[in-house]
Amino acid sequence: MNYQDHPKGNQQCVNCQFFTPPEDGTNAGTCSRVEGDIEPDDWCSVYAEG
Ligand code: SF4
Repeated sequence: MNYQDHPKGNQQCVNCQFFTPPEDGTNAGTCSRVEGDIEPDDWCSVYAEG
């Protein structure tokens, strides 16, 4: 998925429909398409405007 730890232009996880934001007190959210901790300013190639 070409996951990367920085945004691609103005695309980033926080704007993606597959992203679930972090709970209070944590830095990382989750994603329904990519396993593991997902930072809001990360990005991958299955990004979809949310
Ligand atoms: S699909 Fe990709 S861009 Fe979207 S939230 Fe998950 S990791 Fe981020």
